[in-house]
Amino acid sequence: MRYVSTRGEAPVLGFEDTMLTGLARDGGLYVPEDLPVLSQGDIAALAGQSYEEVAHRIMWPFVSEAFAEDDFADMISRAYAGFGHDARAPLVQLGPNHHLLELFHGPTLAFKDFAMQLIGQMFEHTLTHRGDRVTIVGATSGDTGSAAIEAFRGLDAVDVFIMYPHGRVSEVQRRQMTTPTEGNVHALALTGHFDDCQARVKDMFNDFPFRDRVALAGVNSINFARVLAQVVYYFTAATALGAPHRPVSFTVPTGNFGDIFAGHIAKRMGLPIEQLVVATNQNDILHRCLTTGEYRPGTVEPSISPSMDIQVSSNFERALHVAYGGDGAAIAQLMNELKDGGFSVSQGALEALRETYVSGRVSEAETSRAISDTLARTGELLCPHTAVGVVVAEDHLGPAPMVTLATAHPAKFPDAVEAATGIRPALPPRMGDLFERDERVTRVENDLAAVEAVIEERRAA
Ligand SMILES: *Cc1c(COP(=O)(O)O)cnc(C)c1O
Repeated sequence: MRYVSTRGEAPVLGFEDTMLTGLARDGGLYVPEDLPVLSQGDIAALAGQSYEEVAHRIMWPFVSEAFAEDDFADMISRAYAGFGHDARAPLVQLGPNHHLLELFHGPTLAFKDFAMQLIGQMFEHTLTHRGDRVTIVGATSGDTGSAAIEAFRGLDAVDVFIMYPHGRVSEVQRRQMTTPTEGNVHALALTGHFDDCQARVKDMFNDFPFRDRVALAGVNSINFARVLAQVVYYFTAATALGAPHRPVSFTVPTGNFGDIFAGHIAKRMGLPIEQLVVATNQNDILHRCLTTGEYRPGTVEPSISPSMDIQVSSNFERALHVAYGGDGAAIAQLMNELKDGGFSVSQGALEALRETYVSGRVSEAETSRAISDTLARTGELLCPHTAVGVVVAEDHLGPAPMVTLATAHPAKFPDAVEAATGIRPALPPRMGDLFERDERVTRVENDLAAVEAVIEERRAA
């Protein structure tokens, strides 16, 4: 499989280089040149298989030129061995035709572990083979960073620097980033918002001398390997509910558009997905864009679902690339206009987007109410991101079973859950002493040179 940039001007790469490169050198994001399509029979054969077996079957065509098949199977098996549930991504029923897909049984209690644990294995395999070392830099609104630090801590071939917006992540998220003791992982608290963190990461990738000096690699969902790993659970969930013989709908709490774009890939690979529903909090740029065709970021309004407090949604570029029929020049033009405040999606592309995605937006009050109502009606305690999904899903129930992605464990956001229900959700026992461990963090200003200096100094140390 070959991977091309959404902006059409960067070198075409194989899987391993796509994974190690992160952002393409023309500023675009890598996407597969074409997609494998599964037959009805292939999809039917996935029902009842283990998560690991489905993962192997779905991802193999994307990575087959990079790894030996046995090695890949071992990486998958190690990636998911530490999950706290044998099904890895179990389904729980919320209503007659509404299900939750619990994606929070990984080591840091959010869906990011599905991709990050596997990426850790793949990076280690490739770098050991090549005798190389890389510096991973990531931006996080909380969950990506903790998942990345957990996946890469203690590995020889990588230094990991994670920037999070100071004071804007939950205490559990922060402690998951600041308490690991391994010398190769570094938490940086940046003065600013998530979008500032993400912009500084992109600046570092566009600073080619720095990028080459430190062998910069990225594990944000700009990295296609992240998105790929997330395609798998759409297949396990849909086949458990009757696909390919009946279509299934999904509602996805969305920020950077990586998770829902993985659903779009599953659909293009032949999975019968009826509706793909984008659920946003009050930071509703995606809902506004799908409604009006105008993509104009506003200012971030901090919410109780902080992992979705985003106005510049990176992976939306991949969806636009599909909607514009793979026209890299058109995407480059839109992204140029974005630097000056925003762009209008063409009529044809907007129709293509609307054929794939529907959307809804949820206020803070509705989110809290959904947490308490769902507890009363079903006994399930939702995290605030999942609650945003549940509200929008209920507006889109139809004949196809609806699956809402439960993106984090409620104990990762205990303040919001307690405010809504009076119940403070407990951490699973395996994380019990998180609040007793010492923290280690470096404050940085929202300034490219300052951040680069910290990274160069620390990685040398
Ligand atoms: C990252 C995250 C999201 C948003 O996912 P995207 O792939 O960025 O759209 C939603 N909920 C939680 C809990 C997250 O950690």
